[in-house]
Amino acid sequence: DDHQLSDFEKIKVLGHGNGGTVYQVRHRYTGAIYAMKTLTADDPVRRQQISREVDILRRTDSPAVVRCHGVIPTPSGDIALLLEHMDAGSLDSLLSARGRSAVSEPALAGMARQVLLGLSYLHSQQIVHRDIKPGNLLVNSAGEIKIADFGVSRIMRRSLDPCVSYVGTCAYMSPERFDPDSYGVNYDAYAADVWSLGLTVLELHLGHFPLLPPGQRPDWATLMCAICFGELPELPETVSGDFRDFIERCLQKDSSKRWSVAQLLLHPFVDGLEQSESDRAFCELISEPPSPPRGMLVEL
Ligand code: ATP
Ligand code: MG
Repeated sequence: DDHQLSDFEKIKVLGHGNGGTVYQVRHRYTGAIYAMKTLTADDPVRRQQISREVDILRRTDSPAVVRCHGVIPTPSGDIALLLEHMDAGSLDSLLSARGRSAVSEPALAGMARQVLLGLSYLHSQQIVHRDIKPGNLLVNSAGEIKIADFGVSRIMRRSLDPCVSYVGTCAYMSPERFDPDSYGVNYDAYAADVWSLGLTVLELHLGHFPLLPPGQRPDWATLMCAICFGELPELPETVSGDFRDFIERCLQKDSSKRWSVAQLLLHPFVDGLEQSESDRAFCELISEPPSPPRGMLVEL
């Protein structure tokens, strides 16, 4: 853990987020490649958020969670996280690169299984991620998917703290987090991650955020209405019964009816296919060349 900032050279930008820019860096002496995420601690609330993220990264140790190899203070008072580099980007960038065309069911099953294993680990450590979405699920060329970005995660202590305060994206937030009275008083905080996973899997199949028409950039109120009162979109007829059922189990508005991670790991959509087959389908997806966006004419 005794790294210094000057031991690393920046190679390129990997992504931008609320928290700051993420760079690909190389260790000058070992040549090892990492991702470096700098967190700016400019106010007390932010400082608390950062210490929570660092705390969680330090205590997680799972192949399904992006590893943190060091926490380096910068001269300007910021903090740089040295993270395992995920060389195939996020599921969000993967979806954009393939023109947001539908991901196949076997590939989604493989993906869902890996994320469920990650969530199962986190939940066993009393950690609720609270920001599961395509941009926070990172992929490497070995076909592994890992959960990243603990910027708004919570460690549950004693009572189930109903996690009311929130900063960040709300598109993937579950109904009970907007309105605990209607969708589960004293709700199970872990169920929120299942909702977000269901929405993520569905988005990868539909090619757009499921609760709104494609291309819409909604305000907060529109989003909240869509999440709490909106119907789930009609799934294409070609979708299998297992897929349909899996999505419905995840996207129960009433959090007490939603399946748990442990139950979903045994769901036929995830458990039905031979594991090697769904993993292969996911690996093929990563190695596919980028396709043109939907609706664009291609000259042959
Ligand atoms: P947001 O608020 O948008 O969720 P954030 O500031 O919390 O973002 P991250 O989600 O951790 O930051 O990272 C932002 C982006 O940087 C990711 O979507 C991904 O594209 C890239 N990224 C982050 N960590 C890594 C990593 N370990 N390896 C490769 N790319 C990464
Ligand atoms: Mg993020």
